[in-house]
Amino acid sequence: MIFRLLLWVALGVVAWLMLRPKQRAAPPRSRAPYGAPPPAPEAMVDCARCGLHFPASEAVRDGARLYCCTAHRDAGPRE
Ligand SMILES: [Zn+2]
Repeated sequence: MIFRLLLWVALGVVAWLMLRPKQRAAPPRSRAPYGAPPPAPEAMVDCARCGLHFPASEAVRDGARLYCCTAHRDAGPRE
């Protein structure tokens, strides 16, 4: 009788080992789990005057050229 009990306990352990959630197989957690997509990496541009590397959203435009500030735009491209 005791062997039958041990058999069921062993079967329970085996079933638990096979059915438990696998931690390694889980997909990595996102840094923003509540729907907000991560911000896209922003394009970087170079100032035509001083060569500074800065985000394109902060660029001061003069036609096709990009500058880091209005002073450099007014000074014109590097010679
Ligand atoms: Zn500049």
